[in-house]
Amino acid sequence: MRYKRLFLAGDAAHIVPPTGAKGLNLAASDAYYLAQAISAVFNSKNESLIDSYSDRCLKRIWKAERFSWYMTSLLHKFPNDDLFSQRIQGAEIDYVANSKAMQMALAENYIGLPL
Ligand SMILES: Cc1cc2nc3c(=O)[nH]c(=O)nc-3n(C[C@H](O)[C@H](O)[C@H](O)COP(=O)(O)OP(=O)(O)OC[C@H]3O[C@@H](n4cnc5c(N)ncnc54)[C@H](O)[C@@H]3O)c2cc1C
Repeated sequence: MRYKRLFLAGDAAHIVPPTGAKGLNLAASDAYYLAQAISAVFNSKNESLIDSYSDRCLKRIWKAERFSWYMTSLLHKFPNDDLFSQRIQGAEIDYVANSKAMQMALAENYIGLPL
């Protein structure tokens, strides 16, 4: 998300399918990390946050990418899916609908992971 003195944030750096509703959340957390990092450079001449900007963001981004991918595979029908894949999808939906543990994990991801 960095090239020399150019920093990317939000959709310009990464794109997610809408199923996880994560695009704006990620853009806001990138901006939060970047603002912290720029402030540290100008106020304390500390470059550690700017140097770790990409890594800090990407840790969060890949979790959101994973969740968005999971929600897409849970909620969409794909024309090339064979019977096995359709049954697995049905079993997954049944599991989400009936397991408190799974519902908590899904809610944790939907609400948003900590910054
Ligand atoms: C229908 C829809 C529903 C969504 N629902 C959700 C949701 O529920 N939850 C969620 O978290 N995310 C959601 N998103 C995703 C979210 O809107 C985006 O991920 C988020 O807005 C990205 O923010 P950004 O600042 O990176 O980009 P943008 O919001 O796209 O901002 C980029 C800005 O740059 C401007 N711009 C472009 N080119 C130039 C130029 N050459 N010069 C000057 N300005 C320029 C554009 O006009 C725009 O204002 C949704 C998106 C869509 C389309």
